[in-house]
Amino acid sequence: MTKDLDHLQREALQALEAVDDEGALTGWRTSYLGRKGEVTEAVKALGGLSPAERPAYGRRVNEVKQALEAGYEARLQELKEAGQARSLTADAVDVTLPGRPPRPGRLHPASRTLREMYSIFGEMGFQIYRSCDVETDEFNFALLNMPPHHPARDMWDTFYTTVPGVILRTHTSPGQVRAMRAYYPEPIRVILPGMCYRYEQLTARSEFMFNQLEGLAVGETITMADLKGTIVAFARRMFGAGRQVRFRASHFPFTEPSAEVDMDCVLCRGAGCRVCKYTGWLEIAGAGMVHPVVLENGGYDPDRYTGFAFGLGPERVAMLKYGIEDIRYFWGNDLRFLAQF
Ligand SMILES: [Zn+2]
Repeated sequence: MTKDLDHLQREALQALEAVDDEGALTGWRTSYLGRKGEVTEAVKALGGLSPAERPAYGRRVNEVKQALEAGYEARLQELKEAGQARSLTADAVDVTLPGRPPRPGRLHPASRTLREMYSIFGEMGFQIYRSCDVETDEFNFALLNMPPHHPARDMWDTFYTTVPGVILRTHTSPGQVRAMRAYYPEPIRVILPGMCYRYEQLTARSEFMFNQLEGLAVGETITMADLKGTIVAFARRMFGAGRQVRFRASHFPFTEPSAEVDMDCVLCRGAGCRVCKYTGWLEIAGAGMVHPVVLENGGYDPDRYTGFAFGLGPERVAMLKYGIEDIRYFWGNDLRFLAQF
């Protein structure tokens, strides 16, 4: 009987040598160590033996079983290692290939233009003052000399929140009063950049959200000449030396006197073209001397202090500078547009 066991062990271990994948290994285990496998059957045969034969046979059948189990574990380990080695060679990374560089991001054209504007005004001594996008009716209108029912409010329809009197600002001008209250009684020279919101029909020239860059200077000797000098210097730095700038009388409730600022057309240099509607001029800013009521609301005595303010549209500046025809491109999130800057 033990001779049969020797034979079984030899045969099984030989078969194990021939196994060359994990599927065949499982088959091998089933046929020897499985519930109906040969080793299991040999163990069952113990019951049919005489008491004298049992101890020797029992010991031997256990040895065979252990030898086969150990053989199985060793072969399994070998097959796993071989598989890993194969996949390393087959899926090897060619380290000599050139890398795939990530596409670098870049600034949005509006941010880029804003930063250019910051640096121009920065060199003229203006600091950035960040005001809030969500404003109260009081700051957006009332403190800027537009009491409730003032007809000028019709020009600035906006988005109202569910909290009465809280709106999205329609312009950066409410920051004027906030800056004055923050700086009083010091002289002020700040720019107030940021997003503004209007409830408006979307067209090539108007968006419901857009950037504005407000400028504000307050002091004891500030005149209209300072305003003109600042805007002309900005236009020439931004659009090139020799730009012509003109001021047209206008009206804003929060400045007195008020002016619209035009620059000679960047395309036709004043000769007249489609972009400037054949006038030779492009509007670039609204400006004026800070209204005495607004100075007073900011805490400054209008008999002693004066100030100027202006508002520029960074997207409009970018449109003129880069020849962009439609303002809706800015917030359309189309990479074909954005990747050009
Ligand atoms: Zn033109």
